[in-house]
Amino acid sequence: MSTVITEAKTAGLARVTDPPALLVRDPICGKEFNPAGAAATRNVDGQTHYFCAEKCVAEFDAQPSDRATRASQDTTRTCH
Ligand SMILES: [Zn+2]
Repeated sequence: MSTVITEAKTAGLARVTDPPALLVRDPICGKEFNPAGAAATRNVDGQTHYFCAEKCVAEFDAQPSDRATRASQDTTRTCH
């Protein structure tokens, strides 16, 4: 009996699937998307925020500005 060598099947797994760096993140729902497809934007303290849906903008407007920094841990909402 000779040793059975299992062929490595990783050859097809080397694809690069990382999104391009120009994606932006919706501070409300955390979705990443191309800013060209943003439903709306808001400028706060010189920083532009992009939103994937008008629903997200409305929620952003209704919340204090520090809401944006906490959005990444709140992924339960579904706006899209
Ligand atoms: Zn959104």
